[in-house]
Formats: sequence, C-alpha cells, structure tokens
Amino acid sequence: MLKQIKQDLDAINTFGKNPPGLGITRLAYSPEDLAARKLVAQYMVDEGLEVSTDFYGNIFGIRPGLENEPLVLMGSHLDTVPEGGKYDGTAGIVAALAAVRQINKENISTRYPVGIVIFAAEESSRFGQSLLGSRGFTGNLTAKQIESITDLKGKSLKKILEREQDCLRRKYRPYKPTPLKLYLELHIEQGPILERNNKKLGLVQKIAAPSRMSVTFQGCASHSGATPMGLRKDALVTGAHVIIAVERICHNYSQLLKDGTLVGTVGDVKVTPGAMNVVPGKVELLIDIRSTDMDTKSKAVAEVQNYVKDLASERRLDYNIEILEDQEPIALNNEIIATLADICDEMAIPYQRMYSGAGHDAMQVATKYDSALLFIPCGGGLSHNPRETAEARDIALGASVLQKALCHYAEIL
Ligand SMILES: [Zn+2]
Repeated sequence: MLKQIKQDLDAINTFGKNPPGLGITRLAYSPEDLAARKLVAQYMVDEGLEVSTDFYGNIFGIRPGLENEPLVLMGSHLDTVPEGGKYDGTAGIVAALAAVRQINKENISTRYPVGIVIFAAEESSRFGQSLLGSRGFTGNLTAKQIESITDLKGKSLKKILEREQDCLRRKYRPYKPTPLKLYLELHIEQGPILERNNKKLGLVQKIAAPSRMSVTFQGCASHSGATPMGLRKDALVTGAHVIIAVERICHNYSQLLKDGTLVGTVGDVKVTPGAMNVVPGKVELLIDIRSTDMDTKSKAVAEVQNYVKDLASERRLDYNIEILEDQEPIALNNEIIATLADICDEMAIPYQRMYSGAGHDAMQVATKYDSALLFIPCGGGLSHNPRETAEARDIALGASVLQKALCHYAEIL
C-alpha cells in the first residue's frame, strides 16, 4: 500500500509542479487541475469503479453494492493554492483510492455502494470563494451565485463550468444523484496539534467557520513633510490600531471559550496612495475571524466593529464595514466519531478528538448528510506552503481506518 501511495502522490503532483522550492500550483478548473482529476478518474476506471461527473466538475467513482443506495462516499480535493503543497486535499484522494484498492484486493462485496468523489474548486484562491464543488453537490450554490462569481481575471464561473462540461461529459457519464449514508474525508491537519501530541489521527468534532469583513478608513492624503503631526488624518495608523485590537479581542475570546477555538487575523492591508512621502489617505483591512462557537464568534465580531466605530469617531475619520461572509460552524456526527474511535482502538492507533480551524468539503456535505473528517499529521503543522509534508505511512494508516469504516457502513456481505 505504501509504495502505491507514494506513486499516486508523485503522479498527481506532476501536474502543476513549479520549479524546485515553489511547490504546486493547481488552481481550480485550470488545465493542471483538470489533468490531475482525469488521472485519478483513470485510476478509478482501472479499479473497476463507475466514473461519472456532475455540473460542478466533481468526479465520482462508484463501486456498486448489492443495493443501489445509500452511498458510502469518501473524498477530498485536488486543486491547490498558488505555490501550495503536495498533500492538502491530495492526501485524502490518495487515501480513498488506497482504501478502495484494498477492498478490491480482498474481494469484498458490500450491501451498499462505496464511492470516491474528487470535489472541484475547494480552495478560494481563484474565485475568492471556497468549497464551490461541494457547495454545488449539496445544493448550497445557487444559479444566481454561479452567474455572479468570477475568477481573479474576471472570467465567469458559469463560462468556466460550461467548458468543464464540454471536456468531462465527452468522457464520463452524468452523475446520478444518490442519497449518502455518510461522507468520510481524510485530510492533513494543516496545524501542529497532532504532531505536538504525538498522535497519528485526529477525529474532528467541529469545523470552525469564518466571519470575514472588509474595514475601510477614509482619512486625508497629504504631504508627509508639510502636514504637522497633530493635523493629520492618517488612515494607515488608524488601521494599525485595528490590527492590534483584532489580536487582543480574539485572544481574549479564545481564552474565554471552554470548549472550542477562536482565532482572528488581519491578513491583508491595502494602503492608498501607498507612497513614502504621502500621509496615507485610505486603508482597507481584510479581517478573518473563525470559531467553532457561533455565539462567541458573533461577540468577537461585534466587539471589533464597535472598536472600529469608536476609533473612527475619536480620530475623526470616515469608515465603512462590509461583511463579506458570516458562516455557521459545523458539528460533525458523534456516532461516526465513536465508530472511528473504536476502529483506532482496535488497530492501536494513537488518536485524539479535535477541532478544525480550516474549512473543508466535509463541512458542506455535513449540512446535508452525516459526515466525518479525519486528520493525519503534517510536518511542522505547515500547509499552504511548498514545504508542506506528510508521511506516506500516516496516509496508509488513515486509509486503513477509512477501509474499516467503509466495510462497517457499507456492510460486508
Ligand atoms: Zn484542503
């Protein structure tokens, strides 16, 4: 299994491979992403799975059961951020393939069908929105939204999906919507907890959801030499206070949470006009606050907003707050977590229950079907980074757990 996992990882990661040190760039629906999905679709065909595709470019490989439904589905994604790693998403697809290969090898027949899905466009890098494939799959992406979403170059998602259709529909049959018994996703943790605690698997109880906002301060651009300190309306200095406040407020709320996580980040600052000799007239801050607890998150967001209002009036600047996103955290199914914990105990795998700070396709699928998310460690907790690593043997261990869960839920005949 180990050798095959390494081979699959290498083969998939030939697509979008950058010069050494710059990782993988396989943006959603790009030619590299399409090629990677087609390669895995071929692996599915080779394993005897029935391959199909839906309107969103999600690709399914189904291994029939005695009955046609419900389907026990595993999956993840193959698209990456620019200069991303080899394992984010890809590890989950490779593990799902390994689990199915093992079931085939052991000639296991199941009552319910078992499947693999490659969800399209999980990362937000191209469209500014994430989880597009899994949102489409679960009915959480409206036709109106599809019409309004564009990529960074202004290309419409609708047009891109139509082109995808042309490519994929020629090769694969249309996916026949089937109710799911459950959805299982393996993913690298993208954080340092498992490695720090010396655990091999994380069973995710809750997935944090983001609230995102853009805060703009309008001051007055003026000559940096001729405007006295007391007469300035410096938008950037005002924004700097907000950056510090977001850290303080989110730190405080994270301490208050007895169960769960809360984090806050100002990840982007746009300064206008952005010249060394001009007092900055305008600043825009992009703020991302995530938590597993909606109530606490709402309080933190409100406190940041109040801080912005008070600061603007104190410093006599105009301000604007635009809420970009306000999502609900997702709790995953406790019964499935207990079953996965039993499997880990049986296999003597050191595991822990934990939270996910990052969003995953499982959080979309969980809005409609019972879902579980399993984490494996990644080196130094690094992800969305060319130096992202994961051990093939940890992927294999995760695949074995997936296989046991499949056999349990799809019911061996
Ligand atoms: Zn991912």
